[in-house]
Amino acid sequence: MPQTGKPEPLPPGSTIGILGGGQLGRMLALAAARLGLKTHVYSDESESCAFYVASETTRASFRDPKELAKFARRCDAVTFEFENVPDETVRELMQHVPVAPGPEPLRIAQDRFLEKSFLQQKGLLTAPFHNVASESQAREAFTALAGPAVLKTRRLGYDGKGQRIVKTAEDAARAFAELGGVPSILEGFVEFAFETSVIAARGQDGAFAAYDPALNEHEHHILRRSTVPSGLPEKKVQEAFAMARRIAEALNYIGVLGVELFVTKDLRLLVNEIAPRVHNSGHWTLEGCAVSQFEQHIRAVAGWPLGDPARHSNAVMRNIIGAEVEDWKQLAGRAGLHLYGKRVARPGRKMGHVTTISPGE
Ligand code: AMP
Repeated sequence: MPQTGKPEPLPPGSTIGILGGGQLGRMLALAAARLGLKTHVYSDESESCAFYVASETTRASFRDPKELAKFARRCDAVTFEFENVPDETVRELMQHVPVAPGPEPLRIAQDRFLEKSFLQQKGLLTAPFHNVASESQAREAFTALAGPAVLKTRRLGYDGKGQRIVKTAEDAARAFAELGGVPSILEGFVEFAFETSVIAARGQDGAFAAYDPALNEHEHHILRRSTVPSGLPEKKVQEAFAMARRIAEALNYIGVLGVELFVTKDLRLLVNEIAPRVHNSGHWTLEGCAVSQFEQHIRAVAGWPLGDPARHSNAVMRNIIGAEVEDWKQLAGRAGLHLYGKRVARPGRKMGHVTTISPGE
């Protein structure tokens, strides 16, 4: 796959492989189908809601080279819907088939220390942070930050898992031990006014497109609601777009990425994290834009031109979490309803979402 220059688009009927079988993979597969593209979902979990809508499925370990090679031979391009795909899986696949966004964005997004170091090198603001590899380093880092802080494991944290707010040096040392004594970072607690995110895309020809940032509200560390427009002043929206573009270009990125930002009271934009994939805070684009984030990602991976990210409506996307899905009868008459077809509604599990649109401003 050419990384820049004139891309060779995959013809309709081609197969996009998707690593991961959750709701993001499911919505990617649905978007691909609309464009006449097939999908092959590869997941290590039998209960994968993307399986139900894909043209082909493989259930196997991400570390099974034989199964990966077999999968790769049946795909024309491969992408992923979660960022904890092992490095070796991508390297294995790349021997047979192009993989977008590629291993470098994954490597960086999988490790909070590498991620924040990369962002700072590129001149972007983040919370102040320190690498923490021992209880004594946790205490030292807390003293250096001189204020409330958040200890986060470097790897494998999501939806607030693998992190603790700490208020003293002793708290920091204890949190490090409680999180398993694994490599971590301690970062300063940001008194943000609100959280926002830019969902952006970069095509194989280097084209860049970004969706209007959403205002994101979390409950118990899980995204509850995304609202567009976010209330961020236009000048700051443009600044957020420029930040996402800088990240995408530095990584020679192909596909959709989410850039999560803290907005401070004095309107500084601090990057919290990069998601090298479609993002929950971009689900509103299915109803709010002519080209959704899912279609945009498929376009980029398939080497097609990016679509117009313009928003035609205001939108509020609300996640349906855990047992809330039992109220599906109340929601059944609503436009903008998406249910992911997951069988078990565990607490905190994202079971669907509903987007309400109103005439755009
Ligand atoms: P993360 O796993 O890094 O995306 O963090 C999950 C959520 O925790 C964020 O969306 C914020 O609401 C909160 N959070 C994370 N880091 C910080 C921080 N340094 N200061 C304040 N809140 C934070």
